Parts: sequence; structure tokens; C-alpha cells
Amino acid sequence: MASVSISSRLNKAVRQQYMNLPQGEKCQVTYIWVDGTGEGLRNKTRTLDVEPTSIEDIPEWNFDGSSTYQAEGSNSDMYLIPVRMFRDPFTLDPNKLVLCEVLKYNRLPAETNHRHECNKVMEQVKEQRLWFGMEQEYTLLGTDGHPFSWPAHGFPAPQGPYYCGVGANHAYGRDIVECHYKACLYAGVNIYGTNAEVMPSQWEYQVGPCEGIEMGDHLWMSRFLLHRVCEDFGVVATLDPKPMNGNWNGAGCHTNVSTQQMRENDGLQHIEQAIDKLSKRHKEHIQVYDPHGGKDNVRRLTGMHETANINDFSAGVANRGASIRIPRQVGKDKRGYFEDRRPAANCDPYAVTMAITKTCLLEQEDEKSQ
Ligand code: ADP
Ligand code: MN
Ligand code: MN
Ligand code: MN
Repeated sequence: MASVSISSRLNKAVRQQYMNLPQGEKCQVTYIWVDGTGEGLRNKTRTLDVEPTSIEDIPEWNFDGSSTYQAEGSNSDMYLIPVRMFRDPFTLDPNKLVLCEVLKYNRLPAETNHRHECNKVMEQVKEQRLWFGMEQEYTLLGTDGHPFSWPAHGFPAPQGPYYCGVGANHAYGRDIVECHYKACLYAGVNIYGTNAEVMPSQWEYQVGPCEGIEMGDHLWMSRFLLHRVCEDFGVVATLDPKPMNGNWNGAGCHTNVSTQQMRENDGLQHIEQAIDKLSKRHKEHIQVYDPHGGKDNVRRLTGMHETANINDFSAGVANRGASIRIPRQVGKDKRGYFEDRRPAANCDPYAVTMAITKTCLLEQEDEKSQ
């Protein structure tokens, strides 16, 4: 029996009795933010007198940054600035989930608040109608840290039958995938699809296409929903880019990119120009494609298991062993988008989309020739 949390086995019928109580005019608003690790999410809830109709109706709040790796105890108050509102799929309408930016005591962005700068960059390139789609891979673990539903001793049968697989011997934990999908749709997260991955207990969902800053907002909220759904089931979703050593696939966050020009007839030349610019900035990109300057991704980007080696840049049509892939259909149509396969599953989508935007759309020729 896989180890699931005790909390997940509390009496759900009793819970439902309270959940069914009317709540009057009041509205519960859960504020959600990225903590000082750059990976972890935190949340806390307050009551508003009436349902907010837009983000402007939601007041700023604060929290104790000394308890989230974000501030010293002596100067610990941090500001929560609401930036995007979603419906709450757990306590239902009219309650809200609100993604927040974190500011320090001096109202400058916190170290792990990459949204602040990302938003400015996205504003600069607004006319280009920049779209992103990110493929979030993750791995389910029991509360003991062992991959969910793997034998306690030994391993499941080797990779092969699991990718897009069906059946109790191939798909581990589908309840979580389906509940998370519904939760995203209810919340208003722009989820695009889902599939079982190559390693058993590993799954993927995609978010997008999203324009500009919305990519990071929707992906972070989708991650909150994932962790929260997993909590209900008593298991853990890890975004570790290589949770199991050996002959098991890692977990990435492929990032698909297009501008208006790329999507139009003969857009392929613009895709090729962007890839050429990316080829000259490989190291810089690797540094921001995981929260530890490339240290996480070095375990994943080995050149095996559908990855390119972390030290090499490569690109190709339909090539899943390249850093950048042009989907086959895009090569055929000569327009569409490209896929950056390097970002790790635990990347910050604001950092990733900002780096791609700067390199492909903002840098001058003379700046990059070094
Ligand atoms: P893969 O074949 O790499 O597994 P997926 O089907 O998992 O691809 O994911 C495709 C992603 O590409 C989705 O996130 C989707 O939103 C995104 N996408 C589709 N069209 C575009 C586009 N024109 N620009 C940017 N992203 C796009
Ligand atoms: Mn995919
Ligand atoms: Mn995948
Ligand atoms: Mn992909």
C-alpha cells in the first residue's frame, strides 16, 4: 500500500456537511504567492464583505517573510499585491484564489519576485502578440518520498508502456490528473491538455497559449491547484527535474513560443531568426531555466531520455533530442511556433518567458556578438 497522508483519510462526509453551509454575502479570498525558495507556494485566506468583481477590488495584504525564507525576523513584514484573480474550485463560488506579487518592506520586489520585471518586458513587446504554452511535467510521490505506486522494494517494469498509457498496470494516479484538470477549468486556468508521461507516476499537463505575462500567472496558479488536489488525495507532486536516477525520464517544462509574425504565412523565417539568437545565449538561458542556476537541470539534461546535453545547443525539426524543436507540422506549414525543451519542471515561468523575450525580441545585434 502506497503511503498516503493521514489528513487525506479524515471523514469526508463530515467535511461535506460544513462545506454545504451557506456563507451569506461574505467572500473567502485565498492569497497565493511564491516563497523565498523560488519554487514553493504559500497561501492564506481572509474574508471580504462582498464578492470582488475584479482584481482592483482585492486589497493589498501582508505576511511574515521571516517564515517563508524571505526576510529577517527584525524586519519581516512583506506586502502581498494581488495581480490575478481565479475562481476557487475547492470552496466554490463566490470564493476566490488570488495570485500575488511579493514586495519587501521598502516596496521593492522580493528576490524571488520575477514577475515584476517580466511584466515590464512583456509590456515592451506587446504589439508582437507574444504567445507561450508551457508543458508542465511532474511526478507523484507517496508521503514517504517514494514514487507513488512503485513497489516498495525494486522497480516497476522498464519505460515503454507508460507514455499515454491506460490500465492499472500502466497509469498510476489518474484520479489526481482528472481532478486537477477540472479544477483548472473551473478556476479559469487556461489548461490545454494532459497526458501520462514516459516514467510511471509521471504526468504532464499543458497551459496555453497565453499572451505575455499571463503565461506565468496561469502556470503558477495551475501548480497551486496541483499541490492542493494532491493534498486532498494524500500524495505529493514533485517538480524535481530528475526525481529518479538511472534509466528513468526526467521532468521538464517545455516552453512553446510564437509571435504574430511567426504565426503568419512564411513565419518560419522569424522562427529561425529567434533560434539563431537563442543559440548565442545558451549559457545565460540555462542559468535561469531552473531556480538554482542550472544545478537542477544538470541532472536532467544529459543528452539521453529525450534531452540535449546541458553544454550543447542544438535545434531541429521534430527532433526531441535537441534544445529547440520545430514541430513537424510547423516545418510543413512554414509557420507556427517553436519549442524550447530546456526549462526544468521547477523553473520559474516568469524567468523563462522573460529570458526568451529579451533574447529573441529585445536584444540588439551588437549586444549579442560576444
Ligand atoms: P509536445 O508535442 O511537445 O508534447 P504538447 O501538445 O504537449 O506538445 O504542448 C503543446 C503546447 O504548445 C501547449 O502548451 C500549447 O498551448 C502550445 N502552443 C500551441 N500553439 C502555440 C503557438 N502558436 N504559440 C505558442 N504556444 C503554442
Ligand atoms: Mn507535451
Ligand atoms: Mn512531456
Ligand atoms: Mn514538448
